[in-house]
Amino acid sequence: MGIFQNFGLKEVINGSGKMTALGGSASDISVAEAMQQGLMSYVEMESLYARFGEEVARFTGAADGCPTSGAAAGVAIAVAATIAGENITRIEQLPDSEGMQNEIVIQAGHCIHFGANIAQMIRLGGGRVVSVGSANRVTEAHIVEAINERTAALMYIQSHHAVQKGMCSVERMRDLAIAHGIPLIIDAAAEEDLRAYVALGADAVIYSGGKAIEGPTSGFIAGTKPLMRACRLQYKGIARAMKVSKEAMAGLLQALRNYEVRVSKTETNLLQMNAFIRALEPLDCVNVALVQDEAGREIYRACVTLKDDAPLSAVQLNERLQSGNPAIYLRDYYANVGKLYVDPRPLLPGQEQTIAQEIIRHLSRSEAHE
Ligand SMILES: *Cc1c(COP(=O)(O)O)cnc(C)c1O
Repeated sequence: MGIFQNFGLKEVINGSGKMTALGGSASDISVAEAMQQGLMSYVEMESLYARFGEEVARFTGAADGCPTSGAAAGVAIAVAATIAGENITRIEQLPDSEGMQNEIVIQAGHCIHFGANIAQMIRLGGGRVVSVGSANRVTEAHIVEAINERTAALMYIQSHHAVQKGMCSVERMRDLAIAHGIPLIIDAAAEEDLRAYVALGADAVIYSGGKAIEGPTSGFIAGTKPLMRACRLQYKGIARAMKVSKEAMAGLLQALRNYEVRVSKTETNLLQMNAFIRALEPLDCVNVALVQDEAGREIYRACVTLKDDAPLSAVQLNERLQSGNPAIYLRDYYANVGKLYVDPRPLLPGQEQTIAQEIIRHLSRSEAHE
């Protein structure tokens, strides 16, 4: 029995992805051991922060780094650092940024909800959110016209949650940031590439430790020396309420090491999804196909589309799968248009068969009308 079953909680089969609602990711034993040792030891925290920054630099190609309790905290801290810098009076005044250069320019299609509202995380760091353009169309002129002497930073959200079309590209945002002498912050929370946005010339790039990297609930910011120094100093201000533990830092450093030498699981995942698709072939009321991630990452998911004659809607099927024991979670962003996706990354071997069997059970007519 697992630790959570000891406390009476249901077992979960996660076919949905690195979801915060299901605990982020499940880490390797080496990460767990690093956390255990971190938890049982003392360390000079100031030195740990500095060493952590050096390690982040090594893994990302940035000059320096700053640990965070998650990517959301990373957004608040990076924003705070661009507003208050290393000025302790200002650091202690935030999130009240009255009288400071505090405007954060962000494209309307990037004002997302990732499980919480990104604009609120910006405000938490003292930023005044300046959303430009429309949800599906932002031009360079919108951004240029929003930049003024109160602008603290430009913010770009690299995410499947963001609108993918009609936005100003990250390269153009970088050019505008340089031309106007203001920093560019990129939220790349769930991205797999730890180097691309640093290499592009962003001043601060934010990652989640619990997503692609499969570390503990944690995160980090990678960026320039002065900005990262300012980020770390925010722990004397608003970031104190987002304190990152020594055990989380130990676990994340181990997870980064593992991540660097990882072997691609894409092949294994493809085999798993093809087995799942074959298992559902006898079922007439669904179409099943392999589809690539909408943000272009190397992730291939099985998409189950329920036909009109299916005894349940996708929303109903999703509810039944989630309320079973074990609870089965699929990627359900498109359930309202009849589609459920299976993400192979968090699945243990064989769990794709359990999911297929449960779908067949729920969609065979006698069961559906119970
Ligand atoms: C998940 C996510 C976050 C928050 O990450 P946490 O590590 O859970 O705090 C922020 N921004 C984006 C784009 C995300 O996808």
